[in-house]
Amino acid sequence: MLRFAPSPTGDMHIGNLRVALFNYIMSQKRSEPLLIRIEDTDKERNIPGKEDEILALLALFGITHEEHQLQSNNLRFHRAMALQLLHDKKAFSCFCTPEILEAKREKSKEDKIAYRYDGTCEHLTADQVIDNLAPFTIRLKKPSHSLTVRDLIKGESTFAPDDIDSFIIMRADKYPTYNFACAVDDMLSDVSLIIRGEDHLSNTPKQMAIQHALGYDRTIEYAHLPIILNNEGKKMSKRDDASSVKWLLEEGFLPAAIINYLILMGNKTPLEIFTLDEAIKWFDLTAISKSPAHFDIDKLKFINREHLRGLDPKELSRYVGFADEDIGRLAKVFLDEVSTLKELRVKIGAIFAPKIVPDEYKEGFEVLRNLTIKAPHFDDYDAYKGYLMQHSGLKGKNLFKPLRILLSGAEHGPEMGDLYTHLKNYLKEVVK
Ligand code: GLU
Repeated sequence: MLRFAPSPTGDMHIGNLRVALFNYIMSQKRSEPLLIRIEDTDKERNIPGKEDEILALLALFGITHEEHQLQSNNLRFHRAMALQLLHDKKAFSCFCTPEILEAKREKSKEDKIAYRYDGTCEHLTADQVIDNLAPFTIRLKKPSHSLTVRDLIKGESTFAPDDIDSFIIMRADKYPTYNFACAVDDMLSDVSLIIRGEDHLSNTPKQMAIQHALGYDRTIEYAHLPIILNNEGKKMSKRDDASSVKWLLEEGFLPAAIINYLILMGNKTPLEIFTLDEAIKWFDLTAISKSPAHFDIDKLKFINREHLRGLDPKELSRYVGFADEDIGRLAKVFLDEVSTLKELRVKIGAIFAPKIVPDEYKEGFEVLRNLTIKAPHFDDYDAYKGYLMQHSGLKGKNLFKPLRILLSGAEHGPEMGDLYTHLKNYLKEVVK
């Protein structure tokens, strides 16, 4: 089983989408099911509606799954296993108050040493624990030896017991911490490979320590994906519009192009333009670069344009708000200039909208408009142009400038003949 474990606490970031995508691809390659686990244990940070949004986005990107869980439904297992660890003396109750812990943390900072839990509550006697009615957390005892994470992308990292520390697995409110809920759930779902962002690398030895303490001996494989940098070389964050999947879709990037780019970024691939199904055949998780990936919106635009070019004209027509395939073909004529659906909608919209005409072309524009309204149908642009020249007496710039505005709503653009080919059946509507 593979899993994608989003928290329903914010908008989906491209980093999350990339994690979901790689988990999906690997689940397909290994013929193992994919679990979507909504990590909703942090009640204060959950945002209503986010779960449905995540599921809808995954469906839009063609990331299908076999299982779906809400982490909060596993609470009874988290609690049972925490009690088991207490019973086995692999965990202990900790009565240190947040204020005391904070003061110790501050002190470490002043002394310029890394803060570690100092073991105050580790050796309390059973009576000391039972007689204490104050709120308490549960901590896992730090392991006695180092743990090595073997990562398919990053190689090996070894963590000393002090790096793992005696960390909290159950909070005073009797809810599990992220590390505990995650480690228990991955174990219960028999997860074989965990693909997630590299910001979780330091959590991995903690989760391994939990599983070892619970006697779980199956080896889980890991792949931590390098972070994504923006064009300034800083970690992409909410402040970068392009980090939001919703924003990219609103800007008119096709899901297939976004997927193509996320697979290509920081990777060696046999092709540059491909579909998800093709990528499943040759995708190699171990070929992903260890160093951070650079998000390049221009590259994404190039890829989007190629996917738009490859679309069935009818489908492209629907994407820009029409039904007829002629409009899809017309839209493709603009792909030398623009690269997103949003930009194409502007171009096509201008063709059908009332035209704004500079004063110097107003007269010619009206003449051409009236002629076009009364003209017979011409299949061929040259015949149409000849008809206009003959009946208006206009030529050169005085013909072409107002004619371009009349047919496209713009002063510059693609070859008029190319536009006319796909517009000729709409001419009366275009000039109305
Ligand atoms: N809920 C965590 C996150 O969204 C999951 C990390 C993991 O895959 O374990 O970052």
